[in-house]
Amino acid sequence: MDSNYIFQKVKEDNVKFIRLQFTDILGVLKAISITADQLQKALDGELMFDGSSIEGFVRIEESDMYLKPDPSTFLVLPWNSTTSKAKTARIICDIFDSNGEPFIGCPRFALSRAIKEAGEMGFNMQVGPEPEFFMFHLDENGIPSLQTNDKAGYFDLPPVDKGEEARRDMVEVLQSLGFEIEASHHEVAPGQHEIDFKYTDALRTADNIVTFRIAVRIVAQRHGLHATFMPKPIYGINGSGMHLHVSLFRGGENVFFDPDAADGLSDTCRYFIGGVMKHARAIAAITNPTVNSYKRLVPGYEAPVYIAWSHRNRSPLIRIPARRGIGTRIEIRNPDPSCNPYLGLAVILKAGLDGIRKRLAPPLPVEQNIYEMDLATRKQQGIESLPENLYEAIDELRRDEIIQEALGAHIYSRFVLAKMKEWESYSSRVYDWELAEYLEKF
Ligand code: GLN
Ligand code: MG
Ligand code: MG
Ligand code: MG
Repeated sequence: MDSNYIFQKVKEDNVKFIRLQFTDILGVLKAISITADQLQKALDGELMFDGSSIEGFVRIEESDMYLKPDPSTFLVLPWNSTTSKAKTARIICDIFDSNGEPFIGCPRFALSRAIKEAGEMGFNMQVGPEPEFFMFHLDENGIPSLQTNDKAGYFDLPPVDKGEEARRDMVEVLQSLGFEIEASHHEVAPGQHEIDFKYTDALRTADNIVTFRIAVRIVAQRHGLHATFMPKPIYGINGSGMHLHVSLFRGGENVFFDPDAADGLSDTCRYFIGGVMKHARAIAAITNPTVNSYKRLVPGYEAPVYIAWSHRNRSPLIRIPARRGIGTRIEIRNPDPSCNPYLGLAVILKAGLDGIRKRLAPPLPVEQNIYEMDLATRKQQGIESLPENLYEAIDELRRDEIIQEALGAHIYSRFVLAKMKEWESYSSRVYDWELAEYLEKF
């Protein structure tokens, strides 16, 4: 997509505003809107902004940053044409500092860096995500409630309800945004849905996840519903994950596939699994970045708790889908949709490359349901657990230099600071559960 095409589209579609998008360290989408007449300047990377108030970015004295649009991400947005015929487009940007150097606090750069490193080893990571989310009703004041209006379950075809209608609309909007939707279905819990889009290279997938989250929320809102990517909104039922299907390619060839291996998996694939498993506890800090994330990672709700891999079972961290040949891949099941996708993919790639470099063979796959194993059996088989909470995860991150390197010193230190603040705010409060449990007992 060159700038001629962009200017032509802007004219044809009557685009008046262009949103220059990027994400902060926590993965929150930010945008600066410009009018179409500023577009050339923007494409030349000459637009400056003050980054001092963006989460985890810079100190006041070095707050001037440049946004450099990635022209290949230009899109005319379908959803804000209600009041006039004028349209808005978006372009995803990389951030540069005032010296014109790539800004070390830009999450998209962290991922690009890991991708470059993989490229030097001859690899190109492909990722297909399976984001899950809930849709809830708004109360009479427009505040999201925990009410859903369906009682459907996994793959059910309920009589058309608000949620189903909204999901159908989401699929259409996503398609108009250039997404190839592979599947969309009701998930296990009432009010829970999943929309899967086609795998592509890691940077594009991270961009897509960011676009996906905003599109889903906007469409839900139009249907009078609130869509949430909070990992575990309701106790006692499934939470929302974002499984990632990951493979490595060399040119057009999937290097995870080995037709001569008994299970069809190459050594490269095995080492990649070994790397992800070795770093899994620190990776969790990034892929499961909220206090609430760890309430999903408990036994019994199809979310992983234990660091193991399997060809069949869905309780471990990594499952190997049956497809072989070009579709050979691993499914990493702990990430949740509240994570910063750029950082999430960066740490997974980096861990996998570490495994390949150091030839970290994974332990034997575990084919039983690990939820049903007792502690002694798990110990005997050497099966470790994911962190129990955000604090433990951050502690692991502090010990894992490879994962820190994937983030870069700047993002690492700001991320830990923000997360420790979040943990302290959470852990010092008194909750309903405690009052119900202790107020009368003691
Ligand atoms: N919701 C489950 C999770 O938290 C996954 C359910 C599924 O996709 N089978 O990961
Ligand atoms: Mg799925
Ligand atoms: Mg699912
Ligand atoms: Mg899955």
